[in-house]
Order: sequence, then C-alpha cells, then structure tokens
Amino acid sequence: MDEFDLIRRYFDRDGEMPGVAVGVGDDGAVLTPDTAKQQIQVIDTLVEGVHFPPDTKAADIAYRAVAVNLSDIAAMGAYPRWMTLALTLSDSSEQWVAAFSSGLFDAADKYKVALVGGDTTSGPIVTVTVTITGEVETGAALLRSGAKVGDAIFVTGTLGDAAAGLDLLQRGEPDEFLAQRFLRPAPRITTGRALVGKANSAIDISDGLAGDLKKLLTASGVGGEIDIDKLPLSESLRERFTPDEQQQLALCGGDDYELCFTAAREAVKDIPGIAAIGAVRESTGLICRRNGEIVEVDDSGYRHFQ
Ligand code: ADP
Ligand code: MG
Repeated sequence: MDEFDLIRRYFDRDGEMPGVAVGVGDDGAVLTPDTAKQQIQVIDTLVEGVHFPPDTKAADIAYRAVAVNLSDIAAMGAYPRWMTLALTLSDSSEQWVAAFSSGLFDAADKYKVALVGGDTTSGPIVTVTVTITGEVETGAALLRSGAKVGDAIFVTGTLGDAAAGLDLLQRGEPDEFLAQRFLRPAPRITTGRALVGKANSAIDISDGLAGDLKKLLTASGVGGEIDIDKLPLSESLRERFTPDEQQQLALCGGDDYELCFTAAREAVKDIPGIAAIGAVRESTGLICRRNGEIVEVDDSGYRHFQ
C-alpha cells in the first residue's frame, strides 16, 4: 500500500465537518472560522522513547498525541476545531497505522476536533506532531499572566497519577487505572470553558504541578503558597505508593494534563471537579507547606536536552 492509499484509507474520512470547506486531499485545508472569535494555535510532538515507551500501543500513542494538544486548548479556555498531523513512521505495518488511526479518531470524535490535513514520512523512530486550532471569545483567553494577589489556587482532577502509571508500567507491575491516566489523558476542555470570565490565570500541568505553577506565578509577577495536604490524590495512587512517594508524584510527576488556575473562590464555587490547594501571594516564589511546616520540593521536572 503506498503513502497515498494509506492516507486515504486511514486519515481521510468522508462526511461534512463544521467549518471545513476542503479537508484532507488538497495542497491545503480550506477552513471557515467563526470571525467573531479569536483563534488559539497549539502544537506538541511526541517522540518514541522520549514521550512514550517504544512498546506503547499505536492507538494509545495517537490518542495521547491528540489529548496533550487538547489540554493546551483547554488551558486557554478555548474549544478545539481543527487539527493537523505530521506522522513519521518507522517500520510500521498497515495494522499499526490502522490502530493509530482508530486511537486518533477516538480522541478527535470525543472532543469534536476535525483532522483536516497532515504529512506522512518515514524515519528511524515514530514521531507524532499534532497541531490544533481552537476558538475563544475575543479577549477572553485564559493566560498564565493574570493571577492576582488574593486569588485561590486550584487544580482539576487528581495529581501524580500519570507519572505513577508510567513508573508501574516500566517496572512491569502495571495498575490499570494509573496506566490509563498516562496513556489516555483527559483534557479538561469543559472545565476550561467554564473558567472563561471567572479564572484570572491558567496553565495545564504537563511537567508537574510545582514546576508549572511556578511558571504561572512568574508570568503573573506574583508568588504563591500551597498546602500539600490539600492536593487531590486518587485511591489507586494512595494504594500503590507510600505517603512520601505520593507527595513527590503529585507535586513533581509529569504528564497529568490537569489544569492549574487561580481565581477568586466565589467566582468558581459552582464549578465541579476542582480543588483549592493554596493562595496567590505578593512575595515571589512558591512555598509548599505540610502540616503548616515549609517543605523543600525538588521541582526540576522533566526537561529535554539537559
Ligand atoms: P503535499 O505534497 O501537497 O504536501 P501530501 O502528498 O503530503 O501533499 O499530502 C496529500 C494530502 O494528504 C494533503 O491534503 C495532506 O494534508 C494529507 N495528509 C498527508 N498525511 C496525512 C496524515 N497523516 N493525516 C492527515 N492528512 C494527511
Ligand atoms: Mg502540495
């Protein structure tokens, strides 16, 4: 099967998609944006052996590639519309591509984003780059830089699960729930949309809470304090790890793709699935407390090429 048949069969779906005049198949996609909105553009690459273990299932790789981009769209308070895919295949079989396509469209259908084009190449390892264009009401995008002194600091979902899941996968003692949290992150589009006009700042947690919250605080020119005892933890994380490990995973484990945001408590009191974990302060830096005592946190996170 040549490249063009492969694309036609696995990436070109028939049927009308909202805002897509021309999708896969021409030199470029022709899109019809909502001209009353601003567009949000995001891109993320997953590299075999760096962002996912080489034996990860094709469907999970694809799902995750879409989900991590959707998480950036969520963190901006936007909703997704269109996506493109640059796929580098190594010695992949047609079966592999079929599974990849099914995982990709699982995520695309669930979050209502249309695949409108891409590029298919071969290379030494599997590399997946996805771009997504989203839309948001003009002037309403949630930025990292808007945190205000006196805001409470919130997170969605539970923290540390993805890093825990990956760790157990690599040790050959997988936990089903935690593995899914790594392989199939749940981008918080609905929560992000609910925060528009209510939250003052937001970031998605890809490199660990402590590191990403520091980025938000720095961008806002403020500091913050969080209470480690208030970090939301899943039952599976509590069962499989010691309290010290739970703390380290929740603060510094990457790949959660939850949202961290700041807002006046009153403004977000009706939003479900969020937990208040601290407060924005004037003096810069992040202070973490446990039982009132200040705790030193190694928040170096994961940085590529260091
Ligand atoms: P060109 O040479 O003009 O860049 P290509 O031959 O690379 O075009 O691609 C043909 C069409 O297939 C284009 O519309 C492109 O967007 C689409 N396409 C290529 N690879 C993919 C992919 N992996 N997923 C979705 N669409 C793809
Ligand atoms: Mg062309």
